[in-house]
Amino acid sequence: MIEFKNVKKTYVEGNKALRGVSMQIEDGEFCFLVGPSGSGKSTIIKLITGELRPTSGSVHVNGYSLERIRRREVPYLRRTVGVVFQDFRLIDNMTVYENVAFAMRVVGARAQEIRERVPYVLDLVGLETKSRRRPGELSGGEQQRLGSARALGNNPSTLIADEPTGNLDPARSMEIMTLLQEINNLGTTMLVVTHEHNLVEHFANRVITIEDGLITSDRMDGLNVYEDQ
Ligand code: ADP
Repeated sequence: MIEFKNVKKTYVEGNKALRGVSMQIEDGEFCFLVGPSGSGKSTIIKLITGELRPTSGSVHVNGYSLERIRRREVPYLRRTVGVVFQDFRLIDNMTVYENVAFAMRVVGARAQEIRERVPYVLDLVGLETKSRRRPGELSGGEQQRLGSARALGNNPSTLIADEPTGNLDPARSMEIMTLLQEINNLGTTMLVVTHEHNLVEHFANRVITIEDGLITSDRMDGLNVYEDQ
């Protein structure tokens, strides 16, 4: 579960990125976070992964309190939250297989776990025949799927996809969204961050809108989730 209670985040430079955000995302939900550039979406992701701390308010993620988490606990939190980055962040001189295996190794997965899990997630995203390729030999859509496979390596209970369709054509975008939906159907909580409104309309679900550091609407299938917001 992800829970923000009146979270404010002011950067050192004085930029007020979040001005009092409250939201709760339950286990197993599929939720969009939409808002224009500069509205605070990346700040929310970084608070969830423990990269940033809130200036005030509280952030709870999968049993961890982010405002008082110890440095040595952060890797454990990160095993519960996979992130598919906008720019993929793949390692070019490693194979598809090694990209997933490496991400598991850095958070302490055992060799046997890696041997079992990597083929499973590559199969899940449809890259099982390309495990020996390098990222440079994959299409944009395949690189996106590899980014998803890598984020799933540690079997996280929550997956965050940051602008997952940003650089893809409409057909590939649909494929990726379908894949994220399938992953959600297997029980993973999904938070999809995007500024693309048409994507949200097509895959209507819960949609949280953020503007200028504040949640301006939180709706599921057109209905308010929290009447008082
Ligand atoms: P989004 O992801 O929606 O584009 P961000 O969370 O990146 O929005 O940014 C929210 C606000 O915080 C913006 O005004 C941005 O300029 C500011 N901001 C983001 N990161 C930093 C930083 N490291 N230092 C100072 N200001 C920042």
